[in-house]
Amino acid sequence: MVDENCIFCKIANGSIPSATVYEDDQFRAILDMGPASKGHTLILPKAHFKDVCDLEEPYASKVLPLGGRIGRAMKKALGCSGFNLVQNNGTSAGQTVFHFHMHVIPRYDGEAPIVTWNPGKVEPEELEETASQIYAEL
Ligand code: AMP
Ligand code: ZN
Repeated sequence: MVDENCIFCKIANGSIPSATVYEDDQFRAILDMGPASKGHTLILPKAHFKDVCDLEEPYASKVLPLGGRIGRAMKKALGCSGFNLVQNNGTSAGQTVFHFHMHVIPRYDGEAPIVTWNPGKVEPEELEETASQIYAEL
């Protein structure tokens, strides 16, 4: 359940100190040490899961409501007008710490969005084909 070589296991379970925003028996939420904005928080399960594909109940059902709860609190406490919930899975997706975590990133008026992409172009046939490829594996 806990990986003794994992820094987020140590932080989540309190053996490495952190700026803790929230704690219960399953999660610790901490301030990110390289924040994208003031208040950038990471929600860490106290048990070790590599990524969302590994994340088990009862953690999976609780992490999204907790993200919403922390985001609401950020709006009141910090005056942000919105927040991003970001969760990276795999190196190609930008994951650098391989212990599941969800970012809660406050967004302030006047700042540029941080989760953006350039919309691509795709033909309807390709959408159909891609959708059926994914569907076949579910
Ligand atoms: P990701 O790229 O989704 O794996 O995000 C990893 C995040 O963890 C980055 O935003 C880092 O700044 C943050 N981080 C890494 N080590 C620590 C630490 N010891 N304390 C707080 N935040 C950390
Ligand atoms: Zn871990």
